[in-house]
Amino acid sequence: MFLGYNESMVSGLTDSFGRVHRYLRVSLTDQCNFRCRYCMPEHGINWLPSHDLLTDEEVLRMIRIFGGLGINKVRFTGGEPTLRPNLETLIAESKSIPGIEVVALTTNGSTLKCKAEDYRRAGLDIINISLDSLQQGTFRDITLRDQLKNVLAGIEETLQAGFQEVKVNVVVMRGVNESEILHFVQLTKDWPFTVRFIEFMPFVGNKWSQASLMPYSEIRSEIEAKHDLIPLHNSPSSVGKDFCIPGYAGKIGFVTSMTETFCGDCDRVRLTADGAIKPCLFSPAEVNVRALLREGADEETIVEKIEEAIQRKPREHKPMIHLSTIQERSMIQIGG
Ligand code: SAM
Ligand code: SF4
Repeated sequence: MFLGYNESMVSGLTDSFGRVHRYLRVSLTDQCNFRCRYCMPEHGINWLPSHDLLTDEEVLRMIRIFGGLGINKVRFTGGEPTLRPNLETLIAESKSIPGIEVVALTTNGSTLKCKAEDYRRAGLDIINISLDSLQQGTFRDITLRDQLKNVLAGIEETLQAGFQEVKVNVVVMRGVNESEILHFVQLTKDWPFTVRFIEFMPFVGNKWSQASLMPYSEIRSEIEAKHDLIPLHNSPSSVGKDFCIPGYAGKIGFVTSMTETFCGDCDRVRLTADGAIKPCLFSPAEVNVRALLREGADEETIVEKIEEAIQRKPREHKPMIHLSTIQERSMIQIGG
């Protein structure tokens, strides 16, 4: 790089298999007010000490640098990102960064009843809300919290706030919430959101087993036995396969990370709450930039680290049976 010129700025952040990266997922905290059993290990995690979390300024500096490298979409996640005190400011500041066109949030929905409108005003475009059961007891068994009514009220508030796109994420687990698939589909008759059925993925301590995974093909067949699913156009890098049902206000989507992988078109890179750049959710490869940020490293040095991380992105993740044995960070520590 010389005189502020850097090849990545022109060609985009490209890995060794030619994939160009446009989408940055930023974890703002590893803490959460829920305890979803598929996400957080049963034995809990050691929360990061607060000085290990990137500060707001550090997060924004990284987004600025990524924006200069061709990233145009940022998603805040966690842990629970709405626990971060200055989330509205982070949204608004990110939105004003040159190159960043879309700012999105993934949340458990617990704060939306009070905050959806504030997030919208700050400039948030897209919101994904996790909701795995419509039954109070099952919701409590999964999240270890009694918050179903609050989350439903939050979803309603979000729809009223006028977001570009609202998705409801449902992780389907056999023997836990599989009986609710058609109930979730029914919600989209009147509500204009996308219900996205996500295949259960293995992470450290989440008791995943092949038997607990309900594959996409089976979820889809169950829905198609009752409804016509019309395929919608999805961008090649989209992780979801989206469909509509004639006459329904919402849409149905599937995230098939386990049975139909989408590694070939992956344009995502992650920044963990403690400052690690992770090019793949399922690979231990990561490059931490927190110390460099705190030593006052210049942009060129940070860009080199980002490129180093991107070059370590594997062509594809390992088959699911191997994934379940990889000792890695849990989902809550990576940022979903
Ligand atoms: N706390 C926020 C939430 O729950 O939406 C954001 C973080 S959470 C880790 C992000 C997404 O990852 C959620 O939609 C959650 O359902 C999903 N997730 C977590 N663990 C998963 C697993 N084992 N398999 C599939 N999806 C998972
Ligand atoms: Fe928290 Fe989200 Fe993980 Fe549930 S899925 S424990 S809400 S971070």
